[in-house]
This record gives sequence, structure tokens and C-alpha cells, in this order.
Amino acid sequence: MEDEIKIAGLVEESIVDGPGIRFVIFTQGCPHNCYGCHNPQTHDMSLGKCEKIDKIVEKIDSNPLLKGITLSGGEPFLQSKKLVNLISKINNKNLDVVTYTGFTYEELIEKASEDNGYLELLKNTDYLVDGRFEIDKKDENLLFRGSSNQRIIDVKKSLLNNKVIICDF
Ligand code: SF4
Repeated sequence: MEDEIKIAGLVEESIVDGPGIRFVIFTQGCPHNCYGCHNPQTHDMSLGKCEKIDKIVEKIDSNPLLKGITLSGGEPFLQSKKLVNLISKINNKNLDVVTYTGFTYEELIEKASEDNGYLELLKNTDYLVDGRFEIDKKDENLLFRGSSNQRIIDVKKSLLNNKVIICDF
């Protein structure tokens, strides 16, 4: 259904998935199969549950304490167009968007098409945490990331300058 997103779960207030208090949507389905993944239950697209986009937006709009929303997973880019639709419906336009992905920024740009909506979701993302989780590069001291190959990218600046610009929170 077009008005629903397949989710693994929601966390209505988190302080570990980006700066400030954030509403986190854990999307269902991930093709990356990173060794040591902390959320293996999110991989199978036939699991999880369908949630109405409007219902999620209502929850986001009802919390004045939020600094932003975080799209995590799973692999959010599998449902890019639906997530863009969700973002467009949020009334508070001051909320920033952090998106986690197992793809690299360069892969998303290279694979972007009208069909998959990758570019649209990138344009609606402020900060992208990119790349697969690599257990040999795991570092628990990293801010908002699991392994040191992953980057926090300022997407708006990167798209504007046509190169990856790392974000410094
Ligand atoms: S991209 Fe994320 S959810 Fe997917 S396998 Fe890797 S760590 Fe797990």
C-alpha cells in the first residue's frame, strides 16, 4: 500500500541516533547483511509490520521537544519514495533529518533513478550516516556510528558541491 511503510519499529524519543531528541523510524528490509549487524531481525522484508504514514506523522507532529527525525533500519533507501512522502507531510519544517544507510553516498548517487527515489531521499536528508557496518573497524567511541569506515555526511553541502562534505556536529 502506498500510504504505508514497512517498519521494524519506532522509537519516539532517542538521544543516540543523531543530535538532540529524535523520533526514529526503523525501516524493515536490508540487503547488506553486514557481519555483526545489531539488527538482524530487520533484514527480511517479509517480516516487520505495515504502519500508516499519516499515523507516524501524527506522532512526530505531536512532540514539540523533537530536534529531528532519524531514518534507520534496515535499509531506509529500499523505501525511499514512501519516506520522502512521510517527510513532506510533517508540519514542523524545522526538524532535521538523519538517514542511516548501508550504501555509500557515492553508490547512492551512481544508482539513483526515478524509479528508486534515491536522489529524492538524499535531497530530503540533512545528515547521512553511510556505509556498511564493518566489525573489524568497530569503535564504540564514535559518535552516532558503529564502525570507522562510516561517515557523517552533510548531504545538502555535498549535493551542492558535487563532492562528499563530512559533517562536524
Ligand atoms: S546496513 Fe545496517 S541493518 Fe543492514 S546489515 Fe548492515 S548494519 Fe545491519
